[in-house]
Amino acid sequence: RVKSEGRNGWCFYHAEMDAVVQQRLEMEHELRTALSEQQFQLHFQPLLNLDSGEVVSFEALLRWHHPHRGMVSPGEFIPVAEDSGLIGPIGDWVLREACRQAAQWPTPWRIAVNISPLQFRDGSLPRLVKDALKASGLDPRRLELEITESVLLADEKHNLKILNTVRDMGVRIAMDDFGTGYSSLSYLRAFPFDKIKIDQSFVRDLPHDQNALSIIRAISDMAEALGVHITAEGVETEAQMEALKAMNCREAQGYLIGRPAAAIEAYAAVKVA
Ligand code: C2E
Ligand code: MG
Ligand code: MG
Ligand code: MG
Repeated sequence: RVKSEGRNGWCFYHAEMDAVVQQRLEMEHELRTALSEQQFQLHFQPLLNLDSGEVVSFEALLRWHHPHRGMVSPGEFIPVAEDSGLIGPIGDWVLREACRQAAQWPTPWRIAVNISPLQFRDGSLPRLVKDALKASGLDPRRLELEITESVLLADEKHNLKILNTVRDMGVRIAMDDFGTGYSSLSYLRAFPFDKIKIDQSFVRDLPHDQNALSIIRAISDMAEALGVHITAEGVETEAQMEALKAMNCREAQGYLIGRPAAAIEAYAAVKVA
């Protein structure tokens, strides 16, 4: 605000700021007890293999059932968890719970877990992954970690070492939200990702937007040259799915195939032609 608006202008601004800060502090406080009060739950969203027409994997998506506010979306509370350091214990719970449930599934589907860049910081990730696999008995090859470009942007050397250690255990590594960062392409040289997930912002504009088509086609060609599979996020229509198939996309995830849900058993019977 400019000074000419006077004293009240400034006061108003401060009051608004206070409210935002207050809300964040409150959420941080509530997040601290959310784990012990068992307010977290995992939902699972299917990933369809477009060659076989079968569900091959699920992504674990964290849900917070707040006692008064109902369902709070991860977009709201993950940043608060990251700022407050709570992402450590919360992320570890997600990892353990995802492995525990996947180990009990009726079919050997894979499970994908989102990992925050901050979970790389203290170097404990390989040990936590190992512990989660051991406690659950899940085959490491059934676990996939989804990371974003910012992991390599942060402390590239330190984080690459962690990624390699985890990958040597047999765990797969996927790059999430591909195309939204500053230098997505360069990271494909830095680490042998098992999969790249094309961000839903590109998929949304299919099949008519020429730019989206060109970008996905370019990603697809490059991925093929590098021997990496591509998965499309946010597939909502048949037309999008057809366009993606035509561009050699290997897997699809989105509301068209299934919304995130607590129960997954029904997918054992799903086969899409
Ligand atoms: P993400 O990893 O890119 O997950 C995909 C998001 O897209 C999910 O939102 C999912 O519900 C949504 N989505 C899936 N299909 C469609 C579709 O067809 N259309 C549209 N419009 N959206 C679709 P959600 O569950 O709200 O999660 C948002 C983000 O929060 C995730 O993005 C991920 O970055 C983060 N997140 C979720 N769970 C965890 C977690 O356990 N740990 C960490 N660190 N982050 C998490
Ligand atoms: Mg993800
Ligand atoms: Mg994503
Ligand atoms: Mg996304």
